[in-house]
Amino acid sequence: MNIPRLIFTLVVSLLLAFPINAQSIREQDIRAELGFLASDAMQGRGSGTVFERIAAEYIGSQFRQFGLEPGGDTDSAGNKNFVQRVPVESAPSGATWNAIGVLRGSDPREAIMLSAHLDHLGVNDAAPGDDKIFNGADDDASGSVAVIELARALATGKKPRRTIYFVCFGSEERCGAGSRHFIDNPPVPLTQFVADLQFEMLGRPDEKVAAGTLWLTGFERSDLGPVLAKNGAALVADPHPEQHFFQRSDNYPLALRGVIAHTISSFGLHTDYHRASDDVLKIDFPFMTRSLNSLVRPIQWLVDSDFRPAWLPGQAPVRG
Ligand SMILES: [Zn+2]
Repeated sequence: MNIPRLIFTLVVSLLLAFPINAQSIREQDIRAELGFLASDAMQGRGSGTVFERIAAEYIGSQFRQFGLEPGGDTDSAGNKNFVQRVPVESAPSGATWNAIGVLRGSDPREAIMLSAHLDHLGVNDAAPGDDKIFNGADDDASGSVAVIELARALATGKKPRRTIYFVCFGSEERCGAGSRHFIDNPPVPLTQFVADLQFEMLGRPDEKVAAGTLWLTGFERSDLGPVLAKNGAALVADPHPEQHFFQRSDNYPLALRGVIAHTISSFGLHTDYHRASDDVLKIDFPFMTRSLNSLVRPIQWLVDSDFRPAWLPGQAPVRG
């Protein structure tokens, strides 16, 4: 092998071994993770149940595989875990369970949060029909998988400037205890969180927006959505303002505390919402893969940029 050729081969191998840009998200990974989380074996991931805990441990094991830092509890031996136990007296397991992974940035002053809720409605023997398991494939296994897959993609890129917290909350469907605990005991002061994107019900396309598109709740409230869209995100305004979705997910308590926090979704008001029929069979995996991939580079840009999103004049939410 001659010298120029050798150098060329070395450069190509190095580029392959150390990719600069985040990897793209693969449909087979989404299918694997969503298929497990929304399987009957997971018994609907009821808020505060042992199945919610298993979901959290599973998500934590994925975060570990991607090389994230654990952001959960420290055990008696001093080992840090990916799962955080939050005591909830009334919960079936006496607690709710968050999964937290951290991709440490080079600038310790600023952080971004990507979040979802990992719990759903569990099993209801009084539900009509034969199917008693509320699998919550769209609500919100789809959002949890979005967070997992964005973690996988962003962890393969170069070290980000801002630290990224990947967080799946427990008990959103019941009392919001998982996110409330996180907000009241944040790993860094809330003022360091430049933005939170919450992922909720994006497993099926919404006919009200263009094909392959997701929407952002409260799009008109801040400059975050428009700037992400300008950077290539297939992201538009929420076409269902009458539903007040901005106020209906875990982004809202954060937004009330000043964090620029929105929810990304494609919920087209399908009738499987909070029914046992919210099943894996109804998930549109090619849609999910395509729309999530449109977010990878814009989010990578956001974590590396100096851009600090802000509420537009008079648009910051206030406790009503
Ligand atoms: Zn939900």
